[in-house]
Amino acid sequence: MMACEALDIWAQFLEHVKNRSSAAAFGNWLAPISLLEVTSEEVVLEIPNIFVKEYLLSNYKEELRAFLPVDASGELSIRFVVAAQSKAPVDTPPSLLLSEASAPPSGPVNFKLHLNPNYRFENFIEGPNNQFVKSAAIGIATRPGQSYNPLFIHGDVGGGKTHLLHSIGYFIISAHKRLRIQCITTEAFINNLVDNLRNKSIDQMKRFYRSDIDVLLVDDIQFLQNRLNFEEEFCNTFEALINQNKQIVIISDKPPAQLKLSERMIARMEWGLVAHMGMPELETRVAILQHKAQQKGLKLSDPVAFFIAEHIFNNVRQLEGAINRLSAHCRLLNMEITEELVQTVLKEMLQLVPKQRISVDQILNSVAAVFQERRTELKGPRRTKKLVLARQVAMYLACKLVHEPLQTLAGSFGKKTHSTLLHACKSIEEKLTADETLRRQIAMVQRHLTT
Ligand code: ADP
Ligand code: MG
Repeated sequence: MMACEALDIWAQFLEHVKNRSSAAAFGNWLAPISLLEVTSEEVVLEIPNIFVKEYLLSNYKEELRAFLPVDASGELSIRFVVAAQSKAPVDTPPSLLLSEASAPPSGPVNFKLHLNPNYRFENFIEGPNNQFVKSAAIGIATRPGQSYNPLFIHGDVGGGKTHLLHSIGYFIISAHKRLRIQCITTEAFINNLVDNLRNKSIDQMKRFYRSDIDVLLVDDIQFLQNRLNFEEEFCNTFEALINQNKQIVIISDKPPAQLKLSERMIARMEWGLVAHMGMPELETRVAILQHKAQQKGLKLSDPVAFFIAEHIFNNVRQLEGAINRLSAHCRLLNMEITEELVQTVLKEMLQLVPKQRISVDQILNSVAAVFQERRTELKGPRRTKKLVLARQVAMYLACKLVHEPLQTLAGSFGKKTHSTLLHACKSIEEKLTADETLRRQIAMVQRHLTT
């Protein structure tokens, strides 16, 4: 039996998070959840798909804990039930059935699809900073046009955005053979447009983009900035596709609101899911190095991999460059890879080492100063909203700045586990995309750390 009190609690939870999320995010993710049942042991929530569960737990675990019952160990007792899909088979969006049935799989010759064969989901190493984006990408690729449209991914250079975009392309090609895909950089789109204008074949291009494709993957949308005429054409294409429920994925180096584009364009890009791709933290960088080394038949010991990952940390492409260089060197000289060899061969690449090693202790001091909390409280169990945020910031900075395994870091925060740390990183990463105050507070902590 559903207790009125429980209904109230859920309504209060929704009310609380509504004030803290954008209308689009609330409409897409939270409003579709319904409360099915409440027993003394658990709360049962019905969700439209499994991503909603992930989103809810990644973004609102603290709030859920505050509103819903928890078990003896403090864990949430929520059971999720995915709503039954009654009409269409799950992997065939109704909106795309028509085009699948009627269209041959060939694309026009002048709009060839270019995907990098190395960029697949299987080769994309995930860690706390890119896990959410990767699962959103898999979700889109599994059910194009059905979940979040558009999917907008932003992040710094060399973080794996293009890799993920092409992975979506490959997945769709193999899982939905009849769907027609176009994957294009914004620059190539503009060049195409110019060529077609010159050749008076613009109608053909418009037809191709607006009605002959089912999935549009667009890389580096930042190149659309300050290209007024092209922006309008792109926006029209975008709207035409979205109106037909065709999937769009957009990659950018900044979030939509920071792009110098028209309000109309920015609003369109914020319609679906905007996800930030963070730079991989130390352990993920080590896993990436090991993966790339293995692909090249190169043996890399763990200490050497850690050494490289500690010294190259702001671009995955450079990690790849390091492996290529080491591989060429070892093949020529048939030498084993040691830390000394790495220091010699990768000399210029390793210049990025931070001058000063930062410790968790220093981070705790700086966070305590900026957030005006007691240092001991940051390591303690108390969970006021303000304290939880400060603690999560300290954990996030520890993961980013202290080059030690997660397990060791977790130990420095009292009796915390490594998954608490991962959750903190994810939660701060996500808040950072929309919360200017938090960005400034974290910058202040970082300044405090280096003075
Ligand atoms: P971006 O588009 O964000 O600038 P790319 O997708 O071009 O970055 O990635 C740069 C290189 O790093 C690529 O070769 C890509 O395969 C590799 N890379 C980035 N992130 C990962 C990851 N998580 N796992 C494996 N390889 C990665
Ligand atoms: Mg790229």
